[in-house]
Amino acid sequence: MLTQLLAVQLNEEDLSLVRKITGRIQVLAAENSNEALHLLEQHASIGLVIIDIEHSYLQSLQLLHTLVYRSQQEPLRIVVLGEPHLLQQKKRVFDLDIVTILTKPLQETQLREILERAVVKQDADSKQQNMQEQAHLFNAIFYQAPIGISVSHRVDLGVEPGKEQFDANPMYEKITGRSMEEVLRLGWTTITHPDDLPEELEYFKRLKRGELENYSMEKRFIRPDGSIVWVEMTVAPLQASDSQLFAHICLLQDITKRKEAERLLAESERSKSALLSHLPGMAYRCRYDAHWTMLYVSAGCETLTGYSPDQLINNRDISFNDIIVLSYRQKVSSGWKWAIHENKPFELEYEILTAQGTRKWVWEMGQAAFTEDGDIEALEGIILDITDRKLMEQNLAYRDAHDLWTGLYNRRYLEQLLRQDIKARKSAKRALISINLGALNAKSIAYGYQYSQDIMKKVAEGLSILCNDLAVLSITHEYRFVFYLRSYDERQNLLLLCKKIESTLEYIVSLERIPYGLGVLEIDESNQENVDQLLRNILIASQRSVVLYDGEAEICFFDESMETEIQREATLSALLSRIVSGKNPDCLFLQYQPIIDMRTGGICGFEALARLKCAEMQVIPPLHFIPIAEKTKLIIPLGDIIIRQAFQFLKQLEEHHVMDCTVSINISAIQLIKEGFAEHIIRLMHSMDVNPSCVCLELTESIFASNFQEINRVLKTLQHKGVKISVDDFGSGYSSLSRERELYVNELKIDKSFIDKLMYLSDDQAITGDIISMAHKLGHSVVAEGIEYQRQLNYLKQNNCDKAQGFFFSKPLNASDALALVVGKHTYRLFEHLLK
Ligand code: C2E
Ligand code: MG
Ligand code: MG
Repeated sequence: MLTQLLAVQLNEEDLSLVRKITGRIQVLAAENSNEALHLLEQHASIGLVIIDIEHSYLQSLQLLHTLVYRSQQEPLRIVVLGEPHLLQQKKRVFDLDIVTILTKPLQETQLREILERAVVKQDADSKQQNMQEQAHLFNAIFYQAPIGISVSHRVDLGVEPGKEQFDANPMYEKITGRSMEEVLRLGWTTITHPDDLPEELEYFKRLKRGELENYSMEKRFIRPDGSIVWVEMTVAPLQASDSQLFAHICLLQDITKRKEAERLLAESERSKSALLSHLPGMAYRCRYDAHWTMLYVSAGCETLTGYSPDQLINNRDISFNDIIVLSYRQKVSSGWKWAIHENKPFELEYEILTAQGTRKWVWEMGQAAFTEDGDIEALEGIILDITDRKLMEQNLAYRDAHDLWTGLYNRRYLEQLLRQDIKARKSAKRALISINLGALNAKSIAYGYQYSQDIMKKVAEGLSILCNDLAVLSITHEYRFVFYLRSYDERQNLLLLCKKIESTLEYIVSLERIPYGLGVLEIDESNQENVDQLLRNILIASQRSVVLYDGEAEICFFDESMETEIQREATLSALLSRIVSGKNPDCLFLQYQPIIDMRTGGICGFEALARLKCAEMQVIPPLHFIPIAEKTKLIIPLGDIIIRQAFQFLKQLEEHHVMDCTVSINISAIQLIKEGFAEHIIRLMHSMDVNPSCVCLELTESIFASNFQEINRVLKTLQHKGVKISVDDFGSGYSSLSRERELYVNELKIDKSFIDKLMYLSDDQAITGDIISMAHKLGHSVVAEGIEYQRQLNYLKQNNCDKAQGFFFSKPLNASDALALVVGKHTYRLFEHLLK
């Protein structure tokens, strides 16, 4: 639009004419070229210059050149007033399109026309410029915009989606990863993710039908490498004024990153809610106050505490602190205090009281959340139900420390307690008292395991009454109880407790005729360190007490001599091992004690009695080493050596023509119950060519307490071969005569205790004679052993005892002496004089 006009060098008349017809156009007048140039510099919107070139022609031409140059940058029209001949010379300039030439004098109509044309031209120019500017702007937007743009145009409504003609900007190509030509070739439907396509096609159809003004959606494009790009897309129709064909614009924004962030957020939300819903407990956010005022509580709260989250939040019905079992509240509080102070997570196991009134074990793990100023904003964490685990732990701990049958503490617990007390360096006097019911082992073989287990339970219940914090009862070994006295004043207190134990046991084990032992060990600085040794020593003391048992337990205090005894046992056991492995064959030898036929006074047999000769040439009696051999099971090979030696002695008797003399061999229960024992003996007799009728096997009567049938079967086999069977120490055990009739035995050897009693009992009082007559009635012959005095012999003779053995006749003799006693002599009636 023309707003300013410059009149250069116009005369008054022409200038007023110009002013008259220009109306609202501002007229600026310059008297010369310089002034004109100056005004042109100052006023950029001068769109028309009227210049009279007649004055200062050359300067005017100069100005004209400048104006022509300016017209190339800005829209400008020039009107030149002048004589034709003047203009003729500069035809090149005046022929320019922007220049209009008027001859003087200036005509109003001409000027009006020019003005109108200038105005129109100016408008056209500015329109064109506008359009150019818009084109620039569009290009700038299209090619530089940070969003993808595609424009489809002149699309026939029937054309298949994706096959429209279109332009795409570089960002569109960048987002899709494909060139415009490629998109054109493939079509946008092909590069759209198949999961998003149906939705978009539906939108697109409706857009084409005009049902939608535009549509926006989030969709995925598939890039050439197969990766996916998420875009937010808006599609709108483009109204082309000159065409009825459908055109649209599509704007894309790459939202892949946002989508990934959303996906991660959704994933984290999903896993958070999955975690919370599967949490065997609850998550919380609470204030750091005395009530642990809950601000947020997850749904698991109800299952855990029995209270709904609403009841707990803001302490509506109950505060969390009230749910914590009273005895743990202080612990929870100080635990949090510490965690906050140390800036560490809080962790604690404690018990809560549920709405139903039950107690539950929980594990809490939490952390304080701080404001930017460093103040505590809240506490956050989780509380899980660990009741099952706790019960399991408690159960395991109980099993670890207890004997399950009796419920008493076990050895492990006692050891721990002893070590704990040693560590605590308590000054109080301490002691162990062991109750040894090892004899129950044999009973369980005879009466079954249940029998001994029941006794153990009864004893445990009885002894438990004597327990307290300072007297702890435990089971340390099978059939062994130990009281641990953690504090006592003097020995008298120990003895007092032993008496109480005795009276408890009296009603249970004594009535059942079960021997037991009571060992005592005082713990002091010298022995306390080795707990294992302590328990071993107390066992030794109680074992010693068992040996001394005679209807009443003798309380045995552990002392040095017992230790020596143990050492001796170990030495003997080592010696026995060497003997059975053939290393010290001479260390084991047999002595033979004559057995006298009481009717004739002659020697009718010998009892083979084993002896050990140790390095110091001391002779060790069998009662010292046979029990060790039995305990270590060495009695089997050792017994075999003894049997062979005894058979050899028999052979020697035979060789010296002593034919009707038996050799009695003592056999341990362990040997007898060993599979194939009878067959082994039979084989041996056969291989050594021994006359079975000269072999007598002595078994103690306790052997019949268990496996009666089985043992009797073995005896039957042996007896069948001619071997004689003798019941040794008859009357010392508890076997009754009632079963004796069924037994495959030939004789009974009355225990020495019955022979000893003959020295102070009157004939009327003694029952030895009754035993003899009963044995006779059962068909057994009778041997009296341990005869030392004539008085005993006289009684036995009067009561028809068949055979006699004892120091009164002879002590056990070495094989050579025994042989010398019988060989070459007339053994018949050898001791007849003693029987008179
Ligand atoms: P036992 O079979 O009852 O043997 C009798 C024990 O009484 C022997 O003791 C014998 O020396 C002893 N004795 C005999 N007459 C008298 C007497 O008048 N007064 C006294 N005070 N004692 C007398 P020993 O030899 O010490 O044997 C003890 C026990 O050792 C035997 O008792 C027997 O049970 C066992 N024994 C001995 N040798 C063997 C063996 O080879 N094998 C097995 N398994 N046990 C054996
Ligand atoms: Mg014997
Ligand atoms: Mg005997």
